[in-house]
Amino acid sequence: MQASPTAAEPIETEAELRGKTATMCMMLNLQGSIGMFGHVSIRVPDTDRILLSPGAGSEKGAIRPEDVFVFDIHGEILEHPGGEIPLEWRIHTQIHRDRPEIMSVTHLHAQHSTLLGIAGRPIVPVFLHGAFLHTGVPVWDDPRLVVNDAQAASLSAALGKNVAVQQRGHGSVVVGESAEIAFFRSTFFEENARKQVEAEILGGALPLKPEEAADCARGTFNPRLLRLLWGYYERKARQALANNTPMPESW
Ligand SMILES: [Zn+2]
Repeated sequence: MQASPTAAEPIETEAELRGKTATMCMMLNLQGSIGMFGHVSIRVPDTDRILLSPGAGSEKGAIRPEDVFVFDIHGEILEHPGGEIPLEWRIHTQIHRDRPEIMSVTHLHAQHSTLLGIAGRPIVPVFLHGAFLHTGVPVWDDPRLVVNDAQAASLSAALGKNVAVQQRGHGSVVVGESAEIAFFRSTFFEENARKQVEAEILGGALPLKPEEAADCARGTFNPRLLRLLWGYYERKARQALANNTPMPESW
């Protein structure tokens, strides 16, 4: 799970990545994972430009490429499309500074992964596609909004070299070496958490054994699935928009 499977592919243009930022926001909205307050970012390769989806008040299921903010990695706004600035933009600039191998960051306000944090339960891999979580999900033990540099640095330190971090009583952050990897991890982070919560209600969640989880993580993480997953949710998100039903059913 270290190297990017897309590394051999051509470097995408900023225009293409703007489109991906908007699409990713719409797909996570469809899943119910981004809520009113979450956002996603993609770094433009070989630059310090961070593309960031808009903040609260925007219609997360109908984001257009021209709605995307451009931040400098140090926090200056380079392009302001006119909507609300995501209040917690420092989550993205800080992690992109601290983790240069990471090209995409999602800040989720997803129900089940947040519930586990509230219950004081670690997120552990409980099913095949959540197996990548076997490397561990640390907890940032602070429910506050991330609105200053010290908070952002503390959250990024809690994330460390991991793929995700819980924010107790608030949400989570998930990262990837490409947008497709961050989307894969975000999708199955919340799906795994949902299964874990529901299994706990049934009497107890059975985590994958370490050797099972390592095998499953290798078996499920491949470029083909990354493309299939993205395409599947992109079609659903665009269909929902065409049907004028961009909000997830669970809302
Ligand atoms: Zn938040």
